[in-house]
Amino acid sequence: MTRACVAVIGSGPAAFYATAALLRAEDPLVHVDVYEKLPTPWGLVRSGVAPDHPKIKNVGATFAKTADHERFRFFGNVEFGRDVSRAELLERYDAIVYAVGAKSDNHLGIPGEDLPGSIAATDFVGWYNGHPDFRDFAVDLSSERAVVIGAGNVALDVARMLVTDTEVLAGTDTADHALAALQASKVREVVVVARRGPVQGAFTTQELRELGELDDVDCVLDPADLVGLTPDALTDAPHTVRTNLEAMRRLVADHPPTGRPRRLVLRFARSPIEIRPDAAGHVGEIVLGHNDLVTGDDGTVRAQDNGLRETLSTGLVIRAVGYRGVALPEVAFDQRRGVIPNSAGRVIGGDREYVAGWIKRGPSGVIGTNRKDGQETAEAALAELAHRPDRDPAAIAGLADWVRQRCPDVVEELDWRAIDRHEIASGAGGRPRVKLCTVAEMLDVVGTARAGR
Ligand code: NAP
Repeated sequence: MTRACVAVIGSGPAAFYATAALLRAEDPLVHVDVYEKLPTPWGLVRSGVAPDHPKIKNVGATFAKTADHERFRFFGNVEFGRDVSRAELLERYDAIVYAVGAKSDNHLGIPGEDLPGSIAATDFVGWYNGHPDFRDFAVDLSSERAVVIGAGNVALDVARMLVTDTEVLAGTDTADHALAALQASKVREVVVVARRGPVQGAFTTQELRELGELDDVDCVLDPADLVGLTPDALTDAPHTVRTNLEAMRRLVADHPPTGRPRRLVLRFARSPIEIRPDAAGHVGEIVLGHNDLVTGDDGTVRAQDNGLRETLSTGLVIRAVGYRGVALPEVAFDQRRGVIPNSAGRVIGGDREYVAGWIKRGPSGVIGTNRKDGQETAEAALAELAHRPDRDPAAIAGLADWVRQRCPDVVEELDWRAIDRHEIASGAGGRPRVKLCTVAEMLDVVGTARAGR
């Protein structure tokens, strides 16, 4: 039996599922060091999943078990490419697994997209979830209507956050700065704009059903959008399409608008054409183009502009049209697809390098999708690790000293647990936790905890 040592870059679901699969191997015995830019682990489970979806976050408990493993170490507050380089890690580890997700966003490519008041869902999500990079992000909630572009789950998350009763949000781990801003919000209507039809929506059914359960919110959907989309007409459609349509039919039938204080409108077959400024140069209105849905020879349904236009006044446009991967220093990258080019998780042209999650396959799928994905990556790595020379356990242990010297503010597993305990204790009295939203605050808590150890 031999020992190997692997550096995993990133600490979200893809990183943890790949790590768990590596730790399960019996020969070679793999030691895993997870390097994370933030002092806190769990990636989008902490900073992506909507605060009103606490059950989805329970997967953190599974990751915490993996982190308890004797061959696991966490090196947080260490940025790949800034604090440690690819070459340095390749020199010290048998393999590197990149699991950094897709932190940027797709653009619409329309005039006015960069006006103040037009923002990316990725930034808005980071803001309400307390990601330190977005602690001071300015979100203008002073207009009555917000427009969200996109027909995926992120669009629904964002829309829900804007109309959910803040008394409900006050019982979640929504970041304090976001909670205060949402409590003062003037937004009363959120229009979610989908360029194609209800059949082509990228939503999942549970997320659609939840719209009917929002207190004091009219969920508005034009029944004309559902005409002809009966169960009989859709027998060949995928299961999710059929359940989505059933959820939409129920929204129309069971939740007719009654003039509740807030509205969430689902608008189909509309594309953003232009965002226009108000007199102050801030987002003032958005022009939507009407689309016809055209089926191509391959069966794909396309949105085709039919020339009709409508204008909605709004002070906030949020584009939720997909995440996008960002290149890592010195690591191969496919600019067009926004992924690290790979074959079943092995980096093409790489040197003992592997990739997992959204930076491997693109930004799609739910958290659980990463289990199989991580397993595949781990298997690819294990096949190569089996041929590496045996590692001396003392040398593996010594790697921690190298990291500590290089990054005096490294946040290790015990430190993160102190942050975790602090946040949970701060939430006692009705919230799962109160998130620390700056690195400085987190390091303060770490310093206090270390002094007491
Ligand atoms: P997504 O599911 O890929 O949806 C992106 C949406 O943007 C699609 O409706 C797409 O429409 C639309 N779009 C793309 N370009 C556009 C353009 N130029 N103009 C107008 N619309 C445009 O992406 P996502 O919502 O960011 O979600 C990413 C992944 O995370 C998904 O797998 C999602 O299910 C998952 N997620 C899950 C949850 C959950 O489980 N609760 C929550 C959040 C995210 P077309 O289809 O016409 O291209």
